[in-house]
Amino acid sequence: MSDLNWKKYLVKPDQTIALSEWDPQDASAWKSNRKEAEARNQELNAELETLQELLFAEGKHKILIVLQGMDTSGKDGVIRRVFDGVNPQGVRVASFKVPTSIELAHDYLWRVHQQTPGRGEIVIFNRSHYEDVLVVRVHNLAPPEVWKRRYDHINHFEQLLIDEGTTILKFFLHINLDEQRERLLSRLDTPSKHWKFNPGDIKERKLWDQYEKAYEAVLSKTSQPGAPWIIVPANRKWYRDLLISTVLVDTLKDLKMEYPKAVEDLESYRAELID
Ligand code: ADP
Repeated sequence: MSDLNWKKYLVKPDQTIALSEWDPQDASAWKSNRKEAEARNQELNAELETLQELLFAEGKHKILIVLQGMDTSGKDGVIRRVFDGVNPQGVRVASFKVPTSIELAHDYLWRVHQQTPGRGEIVIFNRSHYEDVLVVRVHNLAPPEVWKRRYDHINHFEQLLIDEGTTILKFFLHINLDEQRERLLSRLDTPSKHWKFNPGDIKERKLWDQYEKAYEAVLSKTSQPGAPWIIVPANRKWYRDLLISTVLVDTLKDLKMEYPKAVEDLESYRAELID
């Protein structure tokens, strides 16, 4: 076990979640200061790089990381910072936007299944199939009888992936309304961040309570062994990154991966190279 006890952020199967009881400002699992956290983050990043190389070399396990959270909660930041320097050959990001007409002509998991990781690969979902019980619910894009069935579909779909050798980790980046205001204002204040400002975020912000309710249902209904939700206090970016990096490193270490066996008589080739 690492020096950060992240297990307290794990959602147990069938645990009922009220987000008001989860502090987005929390940083209590780290016993030292922010500066030391940043140093630890660098160490974890180097460990992640090594473990990812091993994962790729071994070519056995598949890792799926799901990132969900309100607008500005830091999904892009996690991808940029936690995976900084990791070999792009074995890591892929799949972003799920408003579905295209072809995607809408299929069931909602069709586009998702295609993006799941192959052996030796880490895939990060920037948004995911959970949008189909989040934005779809909040904006009435499908009637309740349709989206209510989806929690079961999703659990079964993820079980299928687990049974076939995928390790799934789902992170809910938990910020509050005040933090979102600060982040949106900072996008307005900083010219290099203007491109990130989406007027739609202001509209979505007004639906905060409804999104929160939809997230509570997701967290309460879809955390299962092999595909747990982790509620990440995400107001403080350094803590968010530290927590996610620690979960990843601990999970990859638990896989007890090994480099593939070398060819027989490795040494005999040396002579051929030297002569
Ligand atoms: P992001 O906010 O992820 O950086 P965008 O600004 O392009 O990127 O937002 C993507 C949008 O696509 C979000 O508003 C999200 O709710 C929406 N979206 C994703 N999946 C679906 C879906 N299945 N149905 C409807 N909208 C979706």
